[in-house]
Amino acid sequence: MRLDVKPTTAHLMIPGNCAFRCGYCAQAAGSTARNALSRISWPTFEDEEVLNSLSRRESLFQRVCVQVVHGRDWVARALDAVSALSSLSLPISLAARPMQADLAEKFFDAGVDRLGLSIDAASPGIYEELRSGCLERDLSLVEEAAERFRGRLSTHLIVGLGEREDELVRVMAKLNLSGVKIALFAFTPCPGTKMAKHPAPDYKKYRRAQVALYLIERGMARDFEFDSKGQVTFFGRDWEDLKPILEPSAFMTSGCPGCNRPFYNERPSRRMYNYPRPLSDVEFEEELRLLESAMVK
Ligand code: SF4
Repeated sequence: MRLDVKPTTAHLMIPGNCAFRCGYCAQAAGSTARNALSRISWPTFEDEEVLNSLSRRESLFQRVCVQVVHGRDWVARALDAVSALSSLSLPISLAARPMQADLAEKFFDAGVDRLGLSIDAASPGIYEELRSGCLERDLSLVEEAAERFRGRLSTHLIVGLGEREDELVRVMAKLNLSGVKIALFAFTPCPGTKMAKHPAPDYKKYRRAQVALYLIERGMARDFEFDSKGQVTFFGRDWEDLKPILEPSAFMTSGCPGCNRPFYNERPSRRMYNYPRPLSDVEFEEELRLLESAMVK
């Protein structure tokens, strides 16, 4: 088919009935949006067909990522999938909920290259409400795994679940200190989920989150300032100092190496949250203008 941008990671999902009720997730218990995750539909194929197809097209990809749905037997099913995919020469990522380091070790031993332990919600209150869990406890699990398997952990953070930007920045800085690679996502309302009517985030908010992550990951973050609603008003530098240190990669998809997730959160006809390819000069200038307007107090 015609593709504006090709995916550089092959994303697979192990289907199942999830035990969790995350309000934003199409795979959650109670969701009626079957075979979907974010705005992408995931058609079902037999394992063998997937493996044969992937082995003929390995050169198209830089990575393969297995998305886990936390149903019954998810550990055994994920280990089986990893073992089958190990016959390919592609590095394997496995995206799952935060887990104990001992379980993480099983996945690494089975052939996983990187574990993506998703935090998703950066606000303690929203975490409890949407994920029925404790943010601090799950952050500790990710940090413990990151400590034991240095440089092999990723996480997902979703912008637009209702969190404040100061909460996002705190979680990003904390996880970055442990060497966790952060993949930013824009909340995408999915029909059939509890949050189907919740709006996608404002682009300005998303750009501020991307710039915060860009500065934190490069060790260039200085004291950020926030307003009373937690919104970033100042990145520790005047615009004249900030602009020259920003590169187009600030607005590109973040996460595991080789994961570009084209149009995962956005329609091809609309402005992108995550650019899945290098920006043109015109696009970069346009995003800088948007960011500058997003910094006006
Ligand atoms: S960043 Fe991409 S490859 Fe890594 S776990 Fe997330 S979706 Fe998978």
